[in-house]
Amino acid sequence: MQDKRKRPKILIVDDDRVTIAELNLALEAEYQVLFAFDGQNGLNIATRTLPDLIILDVNMPGMDGFNVCRALKREQLLSDIPVIFLTVMGEETDEAKGLELGAVDYIAKPIISSLVKLRVRNHLELKLQRDVLDNLSFIDGLTGLNNRRMFDDRLQTEWRRALRSGSWLSLIMIDIDNFKLYNDTYGHLAGDDCLRGVARTLEQTLHRAEDFIARYGGEEFVCILPQIRGDELESMAEKLRLNVEKLKIPHTEAKGIPHVTVSLGVASQLPNPTASPQTLVAAADQLLYLAKSLGRNRFSVCPSPA
Ligand code: GH3
Ligand code: MG
Ligand code: MG
Repeated sequence: MQDKRKRPKILIVDDDRVTIAELNLALEAEYQVLFAFDGQNGLNIATRTLPDLIILDVNMPGMDGFNVCRALKREQLLSDIPVIFLTVMGEETDEAKGLELGAVDYIAKPIISSLVKLRVRNHLELKLQRDVLDNLSFIDGLTGLNNRRMFDDRLQTEWRRALRSGSWLSLIMIDIDNFKLYNDTYGHLAGDDCLRGVARTLEQTLHRAEDFIARYGGEEFVCILPQIRGDELESMAEKLRLNVEKLKIPHTEAKGIPHVTVSLGVASQLPNPTASPQTLVAAADQLLYLAKSLGRNRFSVCPSPA
């Protein structure tokens, strides 16, 4: 028999124990089944165990299924886990709402065991395929930009090139301002659209062939700019900032201007054999932090090439 711990993990969150028992019966032969009887516990277990799929009852006392789903989508580690909602057949539920929140499917109660098995299997397979592609690819699935892995490779390459030629290497680290609040206000899907829009604008703003941009993670982007003069570097940082502001993506809850903005950290270094490119990343990160603390929607810059 297959090692039980290697089976995909399915978390069922439902206040109705009969439903949990029925689902468990349908799934326990193929999967590790975990359950929670309320939303908050479901979230805690999901955070602790990172299940492969979550089956979530819509109607629960306390935190309902929609709110659990929202909370899952806010957490980077949990946001990719497929969620299937459970609804009661014939009862008015807003299926569109669940799908908008990012659920992949619905299952109606009473449970039909053969259907549940098929749906769960399909969604797990899709998730597995996505994971494989994500790991193989150098492209970020959401924005189409280069991903973090590609950035790490490119940074090594550019660092070595700069070391050989004795030239400066510059990085711009970019982070969307108050993006958690954006998700909270407009929803996670709108957040994804916003990320795509910002990514496209940043990419279009870079114009030299040797410049490179990647999604660094979450709502952070990073540019590598080899051999750029200090004044050009600063004007590029300002252009990146301004072009995002000019998109005028509404963000009315944010303090200051009612649009989505970014903060940027701009760092340059003359590579030397004893240093590592990570020192440049750390410097850009610190300057980004400084730009945030000075009020956001701005860039901070440290020693620039002449
Ligand atoms: P600050 O101005 O200080 O940067 O605040 P912030 O709210 O932007 O920063 P914080 O790090 O607190 O929140 C980042 C948010 O970005 C939280 C996370 O849910 C969201 N996020 C990360 N990746 C994604 C994604 O792929 N899609 C969506 N919609 N949101 C994401
Ligand atoms: Mg941010
Ligand atoms: Mg961030």
